[in-house]
Amino acid sequence: MSAYDTPTEKCPYCNGEMEADYVDNGIGMVQCGPYHCYGCEASEIGPELFDWYYKDREGSTLYVIKPGEDGWGHPVLKPGHPFSDIELETGFYKGRISPYANTVNGELVDHKEAKEMYNIGLLDEKKLGEPK
Ligand SMILES: [Zn+2]
Repeated sequence: MSAYDTPTEKCPYCNGEMEADYVDNGIGMVQCGPYHCYGCEASEIGPELFDWYYKDREGSTLYVIKPGEDGWGHPVLKPGHPFSDIELETGFYKGRISPYANTVNGELVDHKEAKEMYNIGLLDEKKLGEPK
């Protein structure tokens, strides 16, 4: 595999092939958009997930361990988060594009197109609840 191949992922919902937007940073290709399934519209949950974790004063994510649970436990999400149980389990939005991805008229666009569309004011504006 060369540095310029962009890997595909298997969709956890329909087993289809998923692709992501990659950009050449001079050394190789770096993922700069979520994996997206063109079969069922599933898409990868990005770093936005971490914004919804409860953190302590030092900014470390808090983990809880339920009774009977082993290991490190799991992070706790703040109320009002946009993820369903299955989405949290798979790490992919089910049948929808990440509300944080660049879209035009609800269609996923790559970083080049997003910049062009932003410049002419056509990039979809995101009205999202911010984590409190
Ligand atoms: Zn799919």
